[in-house]
Amino acid sequence: MKYLSCSYLEHGIDFEHRRLTTCCFTCHSGGGRIDIADEYNGELVDWNKLFADKRKMREAHKKGNLTPNCIGCVFLEEKDWDDEDYINKLQFNYWVKCNSKCIYCYLENHKNKYEDMIPYNVVPVIQDLIDKKLLRSGGEISFGGGEPTIYPEFDDLINLFTKSGITNMRVHSSGIRFSPAIANALKERALNVVISIDSSSRAIYKKIKRVDCYDKVTENIKKYAQANPEGYSYVVSKYIIIPHVNDTIVEIENWIQQTRSFGSRWLALDIEDVWYKMNSANIPDYYLNLVNYVLNRAKDLDMKVELYDRARGLKQGLNLV
Ligand code: SF4
Ligand code: SF4
Repeated sequence: MKYLSCSYLEHGIDFEHRRLTTCCFTCHSGGGRIDIADEYNGELVDWNKLFADKRKMREAHKKGNLTPNCIGCVFLEEKDWDDEDYINKLQFNYWVKCNSKCIYCYLENHKNKYEDMIPYNVVPVIQDLIDKKLLRSGGEISFGGGEPTIYPEFDDLINLFTKSGITNMRVHSSGIRFSPAIANALKERALNVVISIDSSSRAIYKKIKRVDCYDKVTENIKKYAQANPEGYSYVVSKYIIIPHVNDTIVEIENWIQQTRSFGSRWLALDIEDVWYKMNSANIPDYYLNLVNYVLNRAKDLDMKVELYDRARGLKQGLNLV
């Protein structure tokens, strides 16, 4: 039967700092991130219980009773969901260290909260999921939250998924460290790497990132693009629009052109979260115009563009908070 749900609620897990949730999305009125387990520190997961909890939510949605955290979420979709128990959406957001210091980063802005957190090792949990044949391809495996490439188990995890035939990984990376596991998975067409460069010049990059690594990052984008047989298809250059810092048409146009010159033709766009939340009731039209500018330029230049949460909400006319 048709009912409102989303692929994360149906088949997803998000590994967060000390908790497991359905997804990592929070910028809508319901608040998102439904707890599957709090006080989680890398223990093996009781899959039967997890699927029983998901079935309970599924049944409520079938009756029209939305999980309160999902209210207002852009990922809700009315369709015939498959009613099966498996996982094909995994998000890893439990890493806390990074080699960048972005001005908009929650880790940077809540240092006291995250500084002493020791990330757990999720490799045995994923191995268990694979051994029990509960992992399917066709969804998405996404890495973010801190800089994943600087953690020792990261390469193991990527290699484990690559060997298992998973072809839909997405890694959010600062791009400062070149990862051979990412390059190998790019060769296998198993992974997209998203690097939020947010600028087209060393000066603006440094202002936003507070590290002087622009040249290193641009070199790594080029190396990743070369590692992939299709070159430009799997390396995503992301731009988070930060009002009064990098929000000019000139900087954005230069970013688009530079992305092409690095060998990538895939753009991603978002708007800075804290500013967006503070101004959500009255976002100036200028920012929707910037979103439209990137969409139009991508079309002109035969590039692909993906809108992340706030940019997507703005385009869809949703009042995200
Ligand atoms: S509807 Fe939104 S908040 Fe709810 S599980 Fe899906 S992505 Fe998460
Ligand atoms: S690269 Fe990501 S995790 Fe690192 S400081 Fe920037 S926003 Fe935070």
